[in-house]
Amino acid sequence: MTAAFRQNGPRPPDSAVRQEDLRDLNLEVVFQRILGADSPISRTELATATGLTRPTITRIAEELLAGRLITEKGVTHNGRAGRPRVGLTLSDRGPAGLGLDIRADGLAACVVDLTGTVRHLTFAPMPYTGRDAAAVLGELTRMGREAIEAVMVKELTVVTATLAVPGPVDGGVVRVAPALGWRDVDAGTFLADLGVPCAVDNEANLAALGELYAGDDPLGSFLYVSGGLGIGAGIVLDGTLMRGARGWSGELGHVTVESEGAACACGSRGCLETYASTGAILGALPGATNRTDAPGGAGGIFEGINPDSVITTRAEAADPGALAALDRAGSALGIALSGAVNVLDVGTVLLGGSFALLSSWLIDPVRAEIDRRVVTASWSPVTVRPTLLGPDAAVIGAALTSIDQIRRRPTTWLARQS
Ligand SMILES: [Zn+2]
Repeated sequence: MTAAFRQNGPRPPDSAVRQEDLRDLNLEVVFQRILGADSPISRTELATATGLTRPTITRIAEELLAGRLITEKGVTHNGRAGRPRVGLTLSDRGPAGLGLDIRADGLAACVVDLTGTVRHLTFAPMPYTGRDAAAVLGELTRMGREAIEAVMVKELTVVTATLAVPGPVDGGVVRVAPALGWRDVDAGTFLADLGVPCAVDNEANLAALGELYAGDDPLGSFLYVSGGLGIGAGIVLDGTLMRGARGWSGELGHVTVESEGAACACGSRGCLETYASTGAILGALPGATNRTDAPGGAGGIFEGINPDSVITTRAEAADPGALAALDRAGSALGIALSGAVNVLDVGTVLLGGSFALLSSWLIDPVRAEIDRRVVTASWSPVTVRPTLLGPDAAVIGAALTSIDQIRRRPTTWLARQS
């Protein structure tokens, strides 16, 4: 016990802290204060808050201003009469992050600035035919380059990009995306022409991060579940995304709802996706043609039709077949979610992607199953609601993830500038 404790405890540094490291550390402390402030913060307030000397604050502020990470804005009177002071706040004319997303109904690109504000958002409904990885990612590269150029006139420089994909990712490689028919697709390589480094991540994880940033509780715990071609979940506990030991958590679509149910594209049977993916709901509509070619009818690109609008149009017309299909999907979703809530103890479930669009029909059956199956629900009800960001959650989350690297380590951006 003692040996392990000694081994895991803090170790003395190998050498004295270098002067440059100390400067970087002070700069990051000051930057985090400006980032965390609700309103522009003065140099004097920064000196008080950080314990650094006024000359040090002045030098760091100059460095951050020159690097376009912060800007001087407004005045703070501090509630007293006297000379107003200039406040420092995050710049909306410096580094920016790019997000890209492959959705059930098309492709999306988004740019956010350092403040987290969306400055560019484009969506292209079905610009490609089929689901060929080279064609899809080629079109996304074109949209990404267009976005990078579009924000240049707003004095924004895109630093990195993040691509959201509906499936588990290993490095830049999409291991399997049954909904797209992809297996071991090296998406990072296809996006090399973007001109900026591009990370690849699971869309439900990115959407969950988008919701976390957009919400008012930075330490919130919730389960984000995304409907569409496939079904994925992002797990956020105490403000942290739980990716799992290998980064593959949240495969809610392949949780078994019925042990001997319909065959699923993953090879198992009775998975949630066979009930509640857009392909499955569409396939359950009497008279509707499910044009998917994925095994089990669990997903696939819908050529020439928007599955969500087909389903909503019929549900809005109170078509009994559509209402029954949505009720069945909602019940299956509620059963799978109950298992997750029992294990994870989250108090909120956010419905995203297609589930957000269909939430008015899904929420009641989902709640009914959760109330019945979650052991703590009788004294602590679980909140089920659509997402704040709607279908754009993943692409905005991807863009925010890209800029988050600069927010955490502003010195990496400053090093690029010099
Ligand atoms: Zn499955």
